[in-house]
This record gives sequence, structure tokens and C-alpha cells, in this order.
Amino acid sequence: MKTIKISSGILLLMLYLLQVSCSSDPIETLPPSVRHTSAEIEIEEMSLSSAYFKTATEASIAKTTTCEMTAFQEVLKKNFEMLIQDPTFDLQLAFYLRDLHHKYVTHYIGPNYYGIDGQFNQLAKKRLRELKKFWELDRQIYLNGQHTATLQDFRYLADMIESFDRSVRNAKEAEMKARHILNYSESSEQIPENHFFALEAFTSSNGLMVISDGILELLEQSGVPGEIAFSGLLAHEWWHQAQFEFQHVWEGDYFESRNPELLKELEADFAAAYFLVHKKGATYNWKRIDSFFEMSFNSGDCLIDSPGHHGTPAQRLQAARNGAELAESEKSKGKPQSAAAIHKAFLESL
Ligand SMILES: [Zn+2]
Repeated sequence: MKTIKISSGILLLMLYLLQVSCSSDPIETLPPSVRHTSAEIEIEEMSLSSAYFKTATEASIAKTTTCEMTAFQEVLKKNFEMLIQDPTFDLQLAFYLRDLHHKYVTHYIGPNYYGIDGQFNQLAKKRLRELKKFWELDRQIYLNGQHTATLQDFRYLADMIESFDRSVRNAKEAEMKARHILNYSESSEQIPENHFFALEAFTSSNGLMVISDGILELLEQSGVPGEIAFSGLLAHEWWHQAQFEFQHVWEGDYFESRNPELLKELEADFAAAYFLVHKKGATYNWKRIDSFFEMSFNSGDCLIDSPGHHGTPAQRLQAARNGAELAESEKSKGKPQSAAAIHKAFLESL
């Protein structure tokens, strides 16, 4: 009985920690490529005092929407259960690897592939090209894939440890630690294969966007076609880049609201749907993409009193629907509206 209680607690902890804001990722000030440099950054300890555990101080924009668990949240929960029920499950190691992987993917610059087998490589090329033309942002934007396979590779793991684990003094010690972890995880079917270890979709102000295999796989399991999941995530994160670019102009609009982060998330869904449906964008019809917004990937949450709240699934679906309708209404005109015009249209849709 006690074990069950502890497991549920851990599960809840994980679910909460995963309500991560993709738009509020801190500005990176460190040199971008660190794969072969020495340790400069310490792996941060898990902070239990993160925003998700604080008492809510801000009210959300709307509390009238219903909040049921989406199919995506169900598969997410199942995925975590598989991890914590693994006989070799080790909480400390799980968060160590997850954080290590986050640091790595945040600083990695180099060859990339998207999806477990690179199945989204061509689509990524196409969508990135389209998005560049669609909104013409004045910044370098690059996309890193995140894969659990990286954590299973001795060379990569040793490099990560050497670069980001301050308790390790040199390459030899990093290799020893990597070997030890890989030996331990050999007997496990979940560490680090579980999607928990590559479950990120976020963007940084330095132009980085990250799309992990875990999010894509779990979205597919919940019924969202893979190409829609990938295109939706990409378009959503791309809009956060627009928000970074026009931060100095738009910031005031967000802060006029009681929950600026929520507003930014809803706007990213509005803009993503606009791109996905637009004739000069991805040219999907709403029926093809609505499942993606219904799932709201990991950010559609029901913690409506939390400062980190990103909107209930229903709120996000409505924002996306509005964006799609705007694109549909423009079909005959062809040329997409500028980022500034989309920002204005979104505010007017509220
Ligand atoms: Zn976002």
C-alpha cells in the first residue's frame, strides 16, 4: 500500500514538472556549442519550489471552460506509470538523465534528425522553408530533435556528462560515469527508453526550437497523425520566435492581461492554426488539424489557478479555431498577414 502511495506521488510530481512553458525558457547566454568543452554548468537540482508548487497568486483569464483529461494526458499518464513501475526505477537517476538531456539539446549544434527514425526529416525541411517565407522573421532559427537514443549512446552520454555535470572533473571520469549508467540501465526496459527522457517541445530567445520524439510518439498514440503533430508543434514554437522578435512592441499587450503566459500560449495556437490552414502555409483543412489542438500537447492544463497555467484544452482549441477561421476567410486573397497583423487579430478575437 505504501509503495502505491509513493508511486502516485512521484507520478503527480512528474506530471506537474512537465507542465513546462515553452515560451518562458530562459535566455541562453552561454556559448551555444558545448559538446566537446569542459564542464561549465552544473546540473541543477530538482526544485520542488517551482511555480507549479507555489500557491496561486494570479487568476486565469477564464474559469468557465470544462476541463477533462484529454486522450494525450491519458497516454502521458500511462507512459509515466510504465516508468515508475519498472523494477529498476531510480528517481534520482531519472531526473539526472532528463536534466542532462535538456541541457544537451539546449546547447547542441550539429547534424539533426527528427522523429525516432528520422521520419520527419523531409517534412521538417518543407515546413521550415514555408514558415520562413510565411512570416519572414529577422533571426536565425534552428531546430534540434531530441531522442532517447542519444542517451543510450556511450559517446554522446559521456560528452554530455563531461559538458554539464560539475561533479565530474575530466573526460575519464565522465566516461566512467557514463559506463556505470549504461550498465545500470541495461537491465531496464524504461531507462532511458521511456518517452519521459525525450519529452520536450520548447523554444528559446536565441532562435533554438526543440521537438522531441516523445511528444510526437505520444501525440500519435492519442490519435493525432504524425505529420500533423510535427507541423503543429513546429508552427506553435515558430510563433514563439515571432513573440521574441517583437517582444519590445508586444510585451505591453501581454502584461495588460492577468496571465501573460496564458495569452502568449493561446496566441501561439491561434497563429499556428492560421499557418496550418492558410493557402500559403500548410494548406490543411480544420478537420485535419483539430485533433492536434484538442490534445493541446503537454501545455493544455487544468491548473487554472497556477501562474504557469497555459490554458485549458477548450481554451486552446477555441484560440486555434479562431486562427483557422481567419485563414479560411482569406483563402481567395492568398498572401498571409504579417506577424504584427496576426498579433492584432488575435487580441481582437478575445
Ligand atoms: Zn508554447
